[in-house]
Amino acid sequence: MDTPFPEPVEVRHEKAARRLVVTWDDSHVSTYPLDYLRSWCPCAMCQGHSAVSRYLDLAGNELQSLDGIGNYALGLTWQDGHSTGIYSFRLLRGLCPCEDCGGEKR
Ligand SMILES: [Zn+2]
Ligand SMILES: [Zn+2]
Repeated sequence: MDTPFPEPVEVRHEKAARRLVVTWDDSHVSTYPLDYLRSWCPCAMCQGHSAVSRYLDLAGNELQSLDGIGNYALGLTWQDGHSTGIYSFRLLRGLCPCEDCGGEKR
């Protein structure tokens, strides 16, 4: 049997702390610094055609808005107008930088 992949029950943008806090339906909580998230932008413009995702190591990116995409992903729009990054829940959960998940992925 496939266990259903966790889905966010709450996504909170903490502007002052410059981070996104996601609470999952298995009650895990992920806290993503904005620069960390932006640096993992999965879109083709950021990742090119390489088969392996790479960490872009960008800094100073503010999040302008976030939208749910269907019931499988979050679309993040950054203040520089970049809005092509679609972060699937699976990707987001895989990037969780908490200690239990093995810290930040780079
Ligand atoms: Zn991108
Ligand atoms: Zn975690």
